[in-house]
Amino acid sequence: MKKVWKIAALMLSFALILGCFAACGETKTPTADSEHTTEGEGGTTVMTQSSRLTDGVLTVGTNAAFPPFEYLGDDGDPDGFDIALIEAIGEKLGVTVEVMDMEFDSLCTSVGNRIDVAIAGMTVDPEREKTVTFSDTYYKAIQNVLVPADDTAITDMASLEGKVIGVQQGTTGDMIADEIAGADVRRYNTFALAVEDLKNGNLDAVIIDQNPAEVFAGENEGVLKLLGAENFGFTDEYYAIACPKDDTALVASINAALAALQTDGTFDALVAEYIEK
Ligand code: GLN
Repeated sequence: MKKVWKIAALMLSFALILGCFAACGETKTPTADSEHTTEGEGGTTVMTQSSRLTDGVLTVGTNAAFPPFEYLGDDGDPDGFDIALIEAIGEKLGVTVEVMDMEFDSLCTSVGNRIDVAIAGMTVDPEREKTVTFSDTYYKAIQNVLVPADDTAITDMASLEGKVIGVQQGTTGDMIADEIAGADVRRYNTFALAVEDLKNGNLDAVIIDQNPAEVFAGENEGVLKLLGAENFGFTDEYYAIACPKDDTALVASINAALAALQTDGTFDALVAEYIEK
């Protein structure tokens, strides 16, 4: 063979080898999706399993006193948007969901030990992120202020200074109240108890997320009224599911199931059924 042909042949085989490496490289580099999600029977999302799911059970903590996201149903079991959502997530993952009703303030420290995950209208917050990893967010929320229906004194943030303010222990409402100058902050195990004390005249106001505020105001028409976020300068909050910090497989599974529910219309149907009814 002439020298020039030898060089050409050499270059061609070199190019073929390179091409093969490139192709092999492509198939061997899994995308986040192919690593964690495949479509199983009947649309079930099958994942690279977290060891927390291998027993077929997802143990979920909530605080069932935060309507419409969670409350005790007529049968005494936790019900509400979050409960229906996590059950739908469990179905996508092919696991049974067991819900435990707990104090809100102990949810984050229980994630990864007493419970696998927590769903409780929980706002993504940097302090909490030291203990848990949040899933993708699923709902935008904001704080409101509940006051007695005849109150005229509370109109904005400055007017809350020095007031007796009720909150649920460890919530974002608690964090806000804690910053108000001279406020006497009373912390309760549930918002329902704070609302009771507001009705009893022991509090001037309760700082609470808008959707539950609407439920409590609706149940107490003429007794309580709701002041919107505008005058108080509250900022948007985002709810997410609190997952164990080290369990990236579980977070990926939950995010994939959540995305699937958003795509197939289940999520919107649950919003219509529980929140916008
Ligand atoms: N969204 C608020 C928080 O995360 C309140 C949640 C609740 O009381 N369940 O602190």
